[in-house]
Amino acid sequence: MTLFGGIEGGGTKFVCAVGSGPDDIRAETRFPTTTPAETMERAVSFFKQQQNNHGPLSAIGFACFGPLDPDPTSPTFGNILLTPKLGWANTNVVAMLRAELYLPVGFDTDVNGAALSEARWGAAVGCDPALYLTIGTGIGGGLLVNGKLVHGMLHPEMGHIRIPHDFNKDPFAGSCSFHADCFEGLAAGPSLEKRWGQKAETLPADHPAWELEAQYIALALANYVLTIAPQKIVIGGGVAQQEHMLPMVREKMREVLGGYVQSPLVGPRIADLIVLPGLGARSGVLGAIALAEHALELAG
Ligand code: ADP
Ligand code: ZN
Repeated sequence: MTLFGGIEGGGTKFVCAVGSGPDDIRAETRFPTTTPAETMERAVSFFKQQQNNHGPLSAIGFACFGPLDPDPTSPTFGNILLTPKLGWANTNVVAMLRAELYLPVGFDTDVNGAALSEARWGAAVGCDPALYLTIGTGIGGGLLVNGKLVHGMLHPEMGHIRIPHDFNKDPFAGSCSFHADCFEGLAAGPSLEKRWGQKAETLPADHPAWELEAQYIALALANYVLTIAPQKIVIGGGVAQQEHMLPMVREKMREVLGGYVQSPLVGPRIADLIVLPGLGARSGVLGAIALAEHALELAG
């Protein structure tokens, strides 16, 4: 059995696992994100210890918070780019792993990783294009097209698109430090907290916050439907745990599209288009395992 190491690197915590897929995770650990040196060292020593327990790993996958450079032909491949996270900007995390573990490293955004794992084992099996959207501390999208994760100048930044903002209905200015009222600035968890004065998870299901939130998500999804024509949109992240929002999101997206897109996936089958992650909270770390699998194919 080919074994892989996976790292889900988040702004607040890291999750590391060893295994080959959802039914075969041999070990898992999690620890807080501190300095790059300390955090990467904890990941490296976990993998070294697991190699002693379970045998050699074939590759490492690192699904990481961004922005980052995922292009293996770029001189800065493996870098985390400008981020407000103290000490992490311009750090080459892939070099840190290679220097200690001598293994191929697959490196991509956390959401591209999750798109890959959902398409490989979860809710988006057989669906192409497949879009994975997280709505949590930030908003980000990962995209698989023709079986490949989408990169280009860097990677998509689908959380920062512009959506209509009616200041009369919602006077909140938005909280994105780059764009104020982009999608993330209006609809990520911290924006909900600032607008309503309480944490999103404490807002009751009948609070008006959720209708507004569903409207913003629906506007963004309509734009993705129009530009990508996805066969599946998987929505993860903390805010998406408010499952009562999903039917509202579907209905509002249909309204925004105005009957123009003639696919059953925005008609009678809309509940098949917009779904929760099939892998639940594990889509992140399993995404990292899938990135490792991919890195091994490329290296071989
Ligand atoms: P991260 O984005 O840091 O990986 P999460 O996806 O859990 O982590 O996102 C955290 C954000 O989601 C916070 O703003 C939090 O208030 C919000 N959140 C977490 N759980 C819930 C929930 N059950 N319902 C609504 N909002 C939640
Ligand atoms: Zn923004």
